[in-house]
Amino acid sequence: QFPIELAVAEVVTEGDSLFVGVLRDISERRETEQLLRMTNKIGRAVNLILSNAINEGLSKREIFNSALSDLLEITESEYGFIGEILLNDERPYLKTHAITNIAWNYETRKFYKENAKDGLEFFNLDTLFGVTIRSGQLVIANDPYNDPRRGGLPKGHPRLNAYLGLPIYSGSKLLGMAGIANKAEGYDEDLVDQIKPLTNAIGTLIATHQNAQSKVKAEEALYATQQQLKQMATKDPVTGIANRYMLSQQLEAVYEACVGREEMALLFIDVDRFKNINDGYGHDVGDRVLRHMAEVLEAAVRPTDVVGRWGGEEFVIGLPNCSTLNASIIAERVRSEICSEPHHGIELSVSIGIAGLELQPENLWELIRLADVAVYAAKADGRNCVRIAGNAA
Ligand code: GH3
Ligand code: MG
Ligand code: MG
Repeated sequence: QFPIELAVAEVVTEGDSLFVGVLRDISERRETEQLLRMTNKIGRAVNLILSNAINEGLSKREIFNSALSDLLEITESEYGFIGEILLNDERPYLKTHAITNIAWNYETRKFYKENAKDGLEFFNLDTLFGVTIRSGQLVIANDPYNDPRRGGLPKGHPRLNAYLGLPIYSGSKLLGMAGIANKAEGYDEDLVDQIKPLTNAIGTLIATHQNAQSKVKAEEALYATQQQLKQMATKDPVTGIANRYMLSQQLEAVYEACVGREEMALLFIDVDRFKNINDGYGHDVGDRVLRHMAEVLEAAVRPTDVVGRWGGEEFVIGLPNCSTLNASIIAERVRSEICSEPHHGIELSVSIGIAGLELQPENLWELIRLADVAVYAAKADGRNCVRIAGNAA
């Protein structure tokens, strides 16, 4: 069969009619027209894909689905997919970004419904599409059931009459592939050449998606690093409570809120003979004692109080809205709890200094210094006791 054009003309001579017909084979003209139509379609599809790639309006899924349906329409294919080639432990695999629903039973329909939107992943490359992933080569199989490269289709899979596996490159890097099936006349290299602009546009789409992905990854990594830095800057790694930096900030806030308005007191807590614990039991046991200290101190105060590690075996507690008398009750409770029973066989005790706002310090730092001086008084009085600044003697 081929298309013809028939032109008929009537010629009248001496009462007789003569009909003249001209038959013309217009296959070539048709082909040219078809080619032109196809070129136009490809042009429109490429425009759409590229503008979708740079606009942020549509989701990744919508963009790839639209590209796949253009690819199927232009190549007169029945079903197919567009996918990205990713690595898992250096081994390539396929992740689809768009795939025609060819589910043929309950299980495959369920699988498609649950997974298609995030992309199906194919790790078995012992298949016709796997050839393209493994070799980066174009695969044309117009008799797929007898193709030596075939890996077999699952039972129930729609009939595969013809298959085209298109590698998608960015420069020399294999980014992904498209697999399309069942063009009635089969596939050939001419078609592959014709749709080259479309294949390239899909390549741009995948590359754009990958850039967006790595941007997201970089942002996530940055966020994680920032969180880590924040942790390191604010938390004491040994005990998990506020470090000196964080503690100072919290104490300043408490001091500013209370000074001139209400009472406030500071506890300065120093573990007695801590050096002996380190020397006698080792640094790890010393660390464990510090964690125990942190737990006891945190449990002893209200949520509005601030607790932190000042340094070494020294802790500071800021008590807003608390008189020095009340502070001394809290301090005494902490002291007696610490020495009440040995911690993992180690006898512990603390010396605690207290300073309150009624001493009228010039600033927070003077208040801390006064509490620290009270600690020295407690040490001088034989340790394991509480002393209040100003009344130290
Ligand atoms: P005093 O009763 O006079 O307070 O004696 P002390 O031994 O507790 O005081 P000193 O200041 O002489 O010793 C403090 C020790 O704390 C010395 C140091 O090695 C130890 N230290 C400081 N930071 C840490 C830490 O993070 N972990 C451990 N395990 N030990 C630490
Ligand atoms: Mg000390
Ligand atoms: Mg000490």
